Amino acid sequence: MTVSAILGEKGHTVVSLTSAAPLHQVCQTLTANRIGAVLIIDGVDIAGIVSERDVVRIISREGAGALDRPASEFMTKKLVTCGRDDSVASVMEQMTTGRFRHVPVLENSTLVGVISIGDVVKYRIAETEREAEEMRNYIASG
Ligand code: AMP
Repeated sequence: MTVSAILGEKGHTVVSLTSAAPLHQVCQTLTANRIGAVLIIDGVDIAGIVSERDVVRIISREGAGALDRPASEFMTKKLVTCGRDDSVASVMEQMTTGRFRHVPVLENSTLVGVISIGDVVKYRIAETEREAEEMRNYIASG
């Protein structure tokens, strides 16, 4: 199954800020939207991503003074992305290998959504339950 199946269910909304946005705005945006990472977009370019882990890291390293510093100073710039036609299993593998929980989805270089580890796990549980149900029906009909 592909990433499209997840996007079809959860939608294509991408919460973003610009790289000039201060850390306190990043925190407010994560909280208000109940998400774990925000994309940083300047114009049409994806400049990076800031996740909860980045926020914890910079505050623990530099203290509350960092709250006024711009996202450009603590975002991850080298992003791993996926395509709509990539398999859910391959995205899971990317997340596991790269140790991150969010992957932006691109189609022809345009951002069309974000997949989180929560989306992947939810999808895998539903898939496993469906397979078990099919197996039960198969055995019962035999
Ligand atoms: P996360 O597990 O998503 O909270 O992110 C852990 C670390 O990986 C943070 O430093 C993020 O900025 C970074 N990160 C998150 N998503 C990606 C991604 N798709 N590609 C590269 N780095 C990422």
